[in-house]
Amino acid sequence: MATSGILQHIGATPLVPLLRIGQGLAMPVLVKCEHLNPGGSIKDRIAVAIVDDAEARGVLRSGMTLVEATAGNTGVGLALVAAARGYGLVCVMPAKMSADKRVALASLGAEVIITPNAPPSSPENFRSVAARLAAERGWFLTDQFRNPANIRAHEQTTAVEILAQTRGRVGAFVAGAGTGGTITGVGRRLKAAWPNVRVVLADPVGSVLADWVETGVFGPDGAYAVEGIGASEPPANLHRDVIDSAERVTDEESFAMVRRLVQEEGLLVGGSAGTNVVAALRVAARGDCDGPVVTVLPDGLDRYRATPWVQAWATAPRP
Ligand code: PMP
Repeated sequence: MATSGILQHIGATPLVPLLRIGQGLAMPVLVKCEHLNPGGSIKDRIAVAIVDDAEARGVLRSGMTLVEATAGNTGVGLALVAAARGYGLVCVMPAKMSADKRVALASLGAEVIITPNAPPSSPENFRSVAARLAAERGWFLTDQFRNPANIRAHEQTTAVEILAQTRGRVGAFVAGAGTGGTITGVGRRLKAAWPNVRVVLADPVGSVLADWVETGVFGPDGAYAVEGIGASEPPANLHRDVIDSAERVTDEESFAMVRRLVQEEGLLVGGSAGTNVVAALRVAARGDCDGPVVTVLPDGLDRYRATPWVQAWATAPRP
């Protein structure tokens, strides 16, 4: 089915320099404002791409129900697409995700199923539950962690836009990985255009992925509060061969950076944007790359209003 209405306005997001936070660094830092997508996140791109691909392959037919394991943003993107194209939507979400995201999904008409914060091997894990429901009920599993249409969406849209917006000159691309779609798709396409580009994973402390990128062996698995990135095992859509190095970022560093992005740059972004920018600033400060450092701001602050780290801003003095 043709993409129409609001779905046409997914992507084509601004790429802007960090004018204040990025001052005095060896390389400029440019941030891609994915929080300005219609559904408020970078995941709108993959939602429409996955549905387009499934429709084209004939595996998704009108009236069917979509089911996804989601930290929230893919669910919101899928809700936009489901509304525009007449599909049902069920989102399976781990309990750790913000209450704002649950409310957003339910208000968009999705059925929300909350699972315990269980490891991937557990039948209670959000991905296991989504796969089981798809098999039992005949729902279409959009499967963002494995579906190659996720990576393709970033190769064909996010990366192409970055190349046009930088006139093809990118020193480094920095991003966290939830499904891995962003860093794999953008990284691969940028390297095809300009082999010198460095691709850097921004990883929360507590995720196993940074060690895995550097050594091939999983790091220690711990708890962290940043949502949507990091993992306790690498997802299929995260391709290690595309990534050159990793930066480890604590929750405190990520959330302090979000506050600076909001209050110094006017960028109303979520926690993983903080992680990405902390890592991008380190790469830009070292200056060992040939051009500007580009990163993404995956979603917006609105999705986190009820979290303890945003609530604390009201009482804690401005840093
Ligand atoms: N940040 C947020 C807030 C997200 O929801 C996601 C997706 N899980 C990401 C970053 C990571 O994107 P990707 O799935 O493409 O790795």
